[in-house]
Amino acid sequence: MTATIIDGKALGLELRAELRTDVHHYTEAHGQAPGLVIVRVEGDAASGVYTKAILRIATDIGVQARLESLPATASADELHTLLLQLNHASTTHGIIVQMPLPPHLSQKMVADTIAMEKDIDGISPHSAGNLFLGLPSFLPSTAAAVMEILERTHTPLAGKRVVILGRSNVVGKPLSMMLLQKNATVTICHSRTLNLPFFTQQADVLIAAVGRPNMVTAELVRPGATVIDVGINAKPEGGIVGDVDFASVSNVAGALTPTPGGVGPLTNVLLLKQCVEAAWAQIGERTQDYSAIKICTKEKR
Ligand code: NAP
Repeated sequence: MTATIIDGKALGLELRAELRTDVHHYTEAHGQAPGLVIVRVEGDAASGVYTKAILRIATDIGVQARLESLPATASADELHTLLLQLNHASTTHGIIVQMPLPPHLSQKMVADTIAMEKDIDGISPHSAGNLFLGLPSFLPSTAAAVMEILERTHTPLAGKRVVILGRSNVVGKPLSMMLLQKNATVTICHSRTLNLPFFTQQADVLIAAVGRPNMVTAELVRPGATVIDVGINAKPEGGIVGDVDFASVSNVAGALTPTPGGVGPLTNVLLLKQCVEAAWAQIGERTQDYSAIKICTKEKR
């Protein structure tokens, strides 16, 4: 193995320690902790697991988090009413709605309803628009986690070729905008891309977010490249595997995130970081120096 293995768990713990201090300052100064509400419409087992993980981290860093659970039969009106109540609740600084929703409930309605200043997972058209324009914005937390890893590992981006596999609204597209702001030359590949190796073999940084187990093999990777594996795929025998074939790619890449233990441990921490930033912003502080969005503000050329 030649690649440096990027320890996402350790980076996550580092960020958690910083956040704990920040939450402590906020709580001391304002007599109440930053508040997060997770809305979950019952039905999807995996989202229940994610919810518990977020609640655990929130408790660890001192964020006041609670779960609002709705039955799988909840109507669009019930969900809409709950979101409006949370938009007006002064102790709630950040709101997330766990996906997927049951088919009769619309993700668009949720994205259109959550107040812009509480949209800590960057799902609203407003947040996406700001990101596109290079303005301060909340960011989809998985994409933000990838940027945090690149930043904390001091991976050069300016002038470098970055290839992203996957063009989803939560990972590939927002990442492309964040990387452009860092002056990278960005290529997005997807299921209709012809001659994928032609693109991936040029990448200084290769980011895989396709949802296909072990799809990225050594032949797709330029020797010495940094490879970030966003994929989380359930194995039939239990456990998870990434989109990157760790065994072969670790012999070629310069640096590589493992799965599990790479991007995953940072994603929820980034979500909470944005909740803390939302709390500061809602009391009129840090509206200019908004650290959650520093990764999408333009670097000097
Ligand atoms: P998604 O919405 O299903 O998007 C997958 C993307 O991959 C699509 O753009 C698709 O192209 C592209 N794709 C599929 N097959 C391909 C192929 N053979 N070659 C090139 N591109 C291909 O997935 P997502 O929500 O972005 O998630 C991607 C992966 O990340 C999943 O494994 C998911 O579980 C994981 N994930 C991880 C975290 C985390 O915290 N680490 C968070 C969210 C998601 P088309 O657009 O052409 O269909």
